Amino acid sequence: MCPPPTIRAHTRVRPYLMTIDDKVRKTLAELGVTDAKGVESLFAEVRAAMEKERQELVSKGVASEAERDKLCKALRDRWLARKNGLISFLDENWLKKAAKEIKPVVGRQFNELRKMGANLDRGALMEAIPLASGRTHEAAGVIRAGSSLQAMATVDVTLPGYRRPLGSIHPITRVQREIEDIFLGLGFAIETGPEVETVYYNFDALNIPETHPARDDWDTLYVDSDTVLRTHTSPVQIRSMEKYGAPLYVIIPGKCYRHDNPDSSHSPMFHQIEGLAIDTDITFADLKGTLDFFAKKFFGEKVRTRFSPTFFPFTEPSGEVSISCVICDGKGCRTCKESGWLEVMGCGMVHPEVLRYGGIDPAKYSGWAFGLGIERYAMMKYDIHDIQLFYQSDVRFLEQF
Ligand SMILES: [Zn+2]
Repeated sequence: MCPPPTIRAHTRVRPYLMTIDDKVRKTLAELGVTDAKGVESLFAEVRAAMEKERQELVSKGVASEAERDKLCKALRDRWLARKNGLISFLDENWLKKAAKEIKPVVGRQFNELRKMGANLDRGALMEAIPLASGRTHEAAGVIRAGSSLQAMATVDVTLPGYRRPLGSIHPITRVQREIEDIFLGLGFAIETGPEVETVYYNFDALNIPETHPARDDWDTLYVDSDTVLRTHTSPVQIRSMEKYGAPLYVIIPGKCYRHDNPDSSHSPMFHQIEGLAIDTDITFADLKGTLDFFAKKFFGEKVRTRFSPTFFPFTEPSGEVSISCVICDGKGCRTCKESGWLEVMGCGMVHPEVLRYGGIDPAKYSGWAFGLGIERYAMMKYDIHDIQLFYQSDVRFLEQF
């Protein structure tokens, strides 16, 4: 390779007309560089020149091993030779003669440049340069890049590389999977259903006739008079009964929708998990035992459960499950509103009408069901006080999980 033409200046040459070869033979003071900014831009120029020469050699391709050896050695010597290499001049004229105030920055920049000089080691260069018979990856890339070659030649390889941040699992998904795992371990299967649902599956088949006041309990989003965005995951109970019959052990996770204004505890879209067990000899004792086991698995072994009566149209009898407060252990605190208990789900024995709608004979089979909100579990588990945080896609929030 031909070294760039060297101007043997006898007279003062303006710095922008000078080549790198000229500049390294002068001191920083002679070049008019007196501050850190000037030092940095001067070194950036040197690094760009070094990389440009390296790229030119790499993209050139050589016919023989001997030629490659010769070219690599020439470029290496030009920059790195102990005597009369460009970096040796730079050491002598810039670093050693630098004014005291800028010496630290010159030292740092010089070290960086020396590190980058490793790219010109013969081994590294030989690997990057193609022989006519077979191309190395880097050279092939350069040739493919074609017109962008010029751009690549001025890439500042000392800039930090692109950081590829690791993703993490969304807290809702994480909690959903945790709950699923507990029930999978008990022999339940996971079942899903449509989010755009018919009024029949969302209400009628769950024993909530049109005239029933309970329909008002759900602020429903209607698509048309026969179609809704499902207000709960319960329609999949009916769909599963129709699909599999009895006995049946399923859990049903998924998104649900209600006409709620978003605030710190409400969202028009949220997640539920529904559980359903149907068999020949299912009793309320099975329901209590299973949900107590689940609560201890999820919240910790010392958690106690409490069942209190309530009303749901699709279960009879119906109950609400509370657990002893996980924050204060039942003593009373802000989270449990001084009651010592946290409501965590609704449950009950499947209403005979609902079994009938699912095509299962209530004289032969009985079952229990429960439903819980995944957001609420995630909020309790991670001590989150605003449900909206789950949906804002704010990395600062999400990367904590
Ligand atoms: Zn408490």
